[in-house]
Amino acid sequence: MTNLKISALDYVEQIQNGNISAEDFVSETVDRIKKVDDTLHAFLSVNDDVIEQARAIDKKIKSGDKVGACYGMPISIKDNMCIKGSKTTCASKMLENFVAPYDATVITKLKQQDAVFIGKVNMDEFAMGLTTEFSAYGPSKNPWNTDCIPGGSSGGSAVSVSAFECVTSLGSDTGGSVRNPASFCGVVGYKPTYGLISRYGLISYANSIEQIGPLTRTVKDSAFMLNMICGLDSNDNTTVDNNSEDYLSGIDSGIEGKKIGIIKEMIADGTDPAVLSSTKDAISKLESLGAICEEISIDMVKYSVAAYYTITATEAGSNLARYDNLRYGYDFPVEGYEFNSYIAKARKNFGPEVTRRMIIGGFVPSAGHAGKYFLKAMKVKSKLTKEVNEAFKKFDLLIAPTVPILPFKLGEKIDDPVSLFLVDINTVTANLTGKPAISVPFAISNGLPIGMQLFANSMNDKLLLQAAHALENTVKLPEVPI
Ligand code: GLN
Repeated sequence: MTNLKISALDYVEQIQNGNISAEDFVSETVDRIKKVDDTLHAFLSVNDDVIEQARAIDKKIKSGDKVGACYGMPISIKDNMCIKGSKTTCASKMLENFVAPYDATVITKLKQQDAVFIGKVNMDEFAMGLTTEFSAYGPSKNPWNTDCIPGGSSGGSAVSVSAFECVTSLGSDTGGSVRNPASFCGVVGYKPTYGLISRYGLISYANSIEQIGPLTRTVKDSAFMLNMICGLDSNDNTTVDNNSEDYLSGIDSGIEGKKIGIIKEMIADGTDPAVLSSTKDAISKLESLGAICEEISIDMVKYSVAAYYTITATEAGSNLARYDNLRYGYDFPVEGYEFNSYIAKARKNFGPEVTRRMIIGGFVPSAGHAGKYFLKAMKVKSKLTKEVNEAFKKFDLLIAPTVPILPFKLGEKIDDPVSLFLVDINTVTANLTGKPAISVPFAISNGLPIGMQLFANSMNDKLLLQAAHALENTVKLPEVPI
């Protein structure tokens, strides 16, 4: 039996040493999915040619040909990233039969590195939500407690990594969708600086703030994945040049002498006592490693959730306008409808959360209302960015719990969108300001994971990963019970 619980870097090492073969690893991963995924429902589709793909990579290794750095590693992909010839549904009925005609840039890069795409994983419809309950294909379950939500929107990604159904995964993070499920499922979730990874081929929700990011078992694996997928892309003009930085080098350097700001507004009233005590514990562990921790106030955090939902709904409203049953959908013929009734019928293919966002997204930037809502939200965004930039003049890093509460029961908040929105209070700031942030599994309370979040200034991803690695080394968590 192959050990499916190894990290991505261990996988690479074991393949290089000839201890395991890609074919064995991938076929046992497929068996594992068959065994646990009826319960967990991380996957929306599993590719049927993965074993042949792995075999082809083994052949390359044996014959001494050049092999990509992933060596046939099974990776799951959130179902909002295009893989040519594969279904890309965004967990929506609207794209039920959509087959992507091209590869996203991250997919092209991973193909060049000989990754094996084991399958597409579940998410909230069009990445709107944080529980996966808004998937049109049913929710995923938290492997730590299957009565609980796994977080979202990249819930399938987090579950698949946590339950050993793949080695790593790619998710997308518009307001926390990589970090939130990572925190709830006990894995690492990393949102890089805006622009570090191309969004070409990621189906847009709110382009101005979202990023693709890895979900992994270790921080080093996140650095490895960033090395694989980052870089300038002529297909995405928001990408930035990182001068071919190697994010693994120097990752063991520790955090001695680093100044870390504890964001007061992110440990406010309503934070679960277990999350509070973990935060205190994380701070004292960082201090014992030589960091200097001090509280800081970032006042605009108070308005960040309101600004986030106003801005993202506006962008979603225009991004989702293309789903009109002409370009996508093809559900019914156009004859016999006038414009409004036609569009209304076409949009019935959207679930309740997407519908809500589209209605808000039509209203908040509209003539007569924009000043009160959209423009105000944009002002909050720039004030927040200013405050965070100020904070980084004084501190190297910032810290806060990833989510103020523990994973809750499936169905518990589904009918209360506002209480769901508020769960994002600690994650949206990184997106609104473009800063990198990472969630590290830090504690278990009542059998449920708690993630700790670190932030760094733009393009300081290397330092962020270095600090996150130091933090993860201070704890040893039990294994997921599935
Ligand atoms: N919960 C947030 C939302 O629903 C975040 C989603 C995300 O990051 N994609 O918009």
